[in-house]
Parts: sequence; structure tokens; C-alpha cells
Amino acid sequence: MPPAPTQNPLSLDEHWMPFTANLAFKRAPRLLVSAKDMHYTDADGRRVLDGTAGLWCVNAGHCREPILAAIREQAGRMDFAPSFQMGHPGAFEFARQLTTILPAGLDRVFFGNSGSEAVDSALKIALAYWQANGQPSRHLLVGRARAYHGVGFGGISVGGIPTNAKQFAPQLLPHVAHLPHTHSLEHNAFRRGQPTWGAHLADALDDLVAEHGAATIAAVIVEPVAGSTGGLVPPVGYLERLRAICDRHGILLIFDEVITGFGRLGTPFAANFFGVTPDMITMAKGLTNATVPMGAVAVRRSIYDAVVNASESGIELFHGYTYSGHPLAAAAGLATLRLYQDEQLFTRAASLAGYWEDAAHALRTCPHVIDIRTIGLIACIELEPRPEATGARAFEVFRRCFEAGVLVRVTGDTVAVSPPLIVEHAHIDQLFDTVATAIRAVA
Ligand code: PLP
Repeated sequence: MPPAPTQNPLSLDEHWMPFTANLAFKRAPRLLVSAKDMHYTDADGRRVLDGTAGLWCVNAGHCREPILAAIREQAGRMDFAPSFQMGHPGAFEFARQLTTILPAGLDRVFFGNSGSEAVDSALKIALAYWQANGQPSRHLLVGRARAYHGVGFGGISVGGIPTNAKQFAPQLLPHVAHLPHTHSLEHNAFRRGQPTWGAHLADALDDLVAEHGAATIAAVIVEPVAGSTGGLVPPVGYLERLRAICDRHGILLIFDEVITGFGRLGTPFAANFFGVTPDMITMAKGLTNATVPMGAVAVRRSIYDAVVNASESGIELFHGYTYSGHPLAAAAGLATLRLYQDEQLFTRAASLAGYWEDAAHALRTCPHVIDIRTIGLIACIELEPRPEATGARAFEVFRRCFEAGVLVRVTGDTVAVSPPLIVEHAHIDQLFDTVATAIRAVA
């Protein structure tokens, strides 16, 4: 296939890149031009092992033919159908098939285009639910420190990353409270899987109930495993305790599974892995193997029923997107689910988790390493920050790995890796050997 046409030389000026140091990037760009299975090819023709499943999203590997064929076929048959007061079969069928892998009880699905939209949709649905239920005073939304819930105003308000909110601080949502995060180097460093210390941190929700009154709290949103702030694995018993406190006070529990959904822990969702069922699950990324943007919220039927039945007539939820349930995304999603099933990729991820964990924890003896956290096919290696230069050491590791032909991600001083679920032992060896060499090379 001929390469995509580009102006020569390519101008990098016009595209304002997201979450990127634009000036530095444009001085020394890293451009990817093609991808297949476990590898990218960069603009210099070098093969790069994908240690991050793109951005935690290409769970079935790159450019998988069954998904591409479904997108092509759909694009040729019907490119778009209006999403308001009109429908098309693909969106209904995809929603139905999703319910076959969702935890029992979550069987109504609202579509958007991204994780951020899924989160904002879930927060709005929580508020709409309490209004429909005759308890409009329940409007407080509870998030958690060190949480990433995307970049909508809802997401950055309940999120817990100060740098993501500070440029917009004057206009964050007003009725929000936060739980503490569960990360503790003192108690939990180098634990494999779930740490044993920290379940009691869920009790902070009881404190918020005491402070604000249960009758004001609409919902709590947490990532079961916090991804973007460095793979923070929930302590044993923590999610169960959060669920119990929510139940006691009638608070909705939302799991943001944009990263943990679709096999990353070796189960369809983290809810299955931890055996804790929330009232809503937000998802995106692996939903379509990242081929066509899509996000979704799955909700308990009682939530859907309450909102839909409360309306005398007409539109029940004043929310939605032009591209909700877009035909290409629905086709991609259906083909992605089929591929996960045909290749048993979630089970495959589970069976690789032990090898993955051993390979990650072998880096414990590398210089600067102060913690390694692993669960499913996620590994996060936390480095001691340089004085006065937080993130610089890990970013240098990222650059060295890329030069050595391996793509990793960094967040602060944590190196995060989480590959497509088709990863082989040899890839895992190459990935961690490259990271170890890079860590040893940085000052
Ligand atoms: N929620 C979580 C847990 C995420 O990890 C992300 C993105 O990484 C988002 C929401 C936002 O997703 P998107 O970038 O598709 O808007």
C-alpha cells in the first residue's frame, strides 16, 4: 500500500497537540506511520514494539483484519445515521452484545465518543436519576485524589490531578468532594497484585457522609485501578468497603473502566476481577480496539427505568452526541468483541499475568526504582524523582526506550507499560530488558 501523502517536508506548526510539550516535540518529533499487531513503524522505518497498547486501548493488537473489514463494509453501506429520534441496527446490536460481557444487572448502554464523554455522561445520568427518583438534593459528586476521568469539566472536577484542573480552576463543578488515594510507598511498595494495607481508606466516604449528609450525595466515581496516575492497585477489601458504604447510604457507585475494561486485568471488566459490581461502568478505548473513537456508560436497568419512566412524554434525558452509537464505531465494536471472543484474549491476558509480573518485578534491583506495581497486564515502575525536576528521569527513560525500539508511557516519574493482549513472552522479555537498560543508563 502506498504511504499516506504528506507535504514534504511535513509542517508541524499547525497541529496543536494534546497533552504534549508542543515546542519540545516539534524540535524533535516522534512520528508513527504504520502499525501491525504488536508493532508500530516510525517515520524512519524503524519497528517499535508497542508496550502501551497505543494509549491502553489497542487491546487486540494493531490493524486486525476482522475489525478493518467490518469498518470498511459499514462505511460502504451506511456512513452515518442521525442519532437523535432515529436509529440504526448496529448501535442496538452492539449495546445488546456488550451486556453479554458486562456484570449482571448492568444492561442498559449509553454511547458517546470518548472516555471523557462517557464520564460526563455517567455524572449527568447520576444527577438525572436522583431527580427522577424524587431526591434532587442528591447532587454532590465524589471523586478521588490521583484519579483521571478525562478532560470534560465533569471529569476534571471529580478527577484528582491538580495540574489538569489548575488552568480551568475558576469554572470547575461546584459540588464535588474527594476521597484520599490509596497509594502508599511506606506500606505497599513492591507488592504484587493487590496490596494488603489500605482498605480502611474507603471509610473516608463515611466521613463525607457525616460532613455533607447522605441525602446530598449523588455518586462516587473511582477507577478500580487508577491508570493514568501510575497503576494504583486497590488494596484488598477496599472496593468491597466502598460498595458497602454506598449501599448503606443509597449512593451510586461508578467504576471508570476506560483503561481496565476489555481484558486488561484478564477479565472483561475490573468489576469481574475484583468481584464488586458498581451501578455504572464507563468505558472507551478497548471498546472498539481504538479503531474508531467511541465511549459508553453501562447502567443498571433500574437507573434507566427510573429516568425513562419519570418522563410524562418526549425526551427523557437531555443529553447525547451527534456521533452517539456511530455506525462505524458500532461495526468496529461488534467486530472487536467477536475477535476478543474468537481468540479468547481476556483469558490469554490472565494466563500471561504471572510471567508479566515476574518480568516486571525483576527490575527491582535497577537504580532509582522505588516501587513496582503489577496487576493483570499492567506494570508501573516508579522512579525516585530528581530533585527539582519531577518527571525528568522517567521522561528520559521513555526517550531512550523509544530510541531502542520500544514504546512505553510515563506519568510523573512512573514508567507505565501495558501491551496489547496478543503479547508473546519474547515481547515481554524485550520490553522489560529495554526498560531496565534505559533505567540503568539515566542519571
Ligand atoms: N477515564 C479514564 C480512567 C481514563 O484513563 C481516560 C483516558 O485515559 C479517560 C477517562 C478519558 O478518555 P478519553 O481520553 O478517551 O477522553
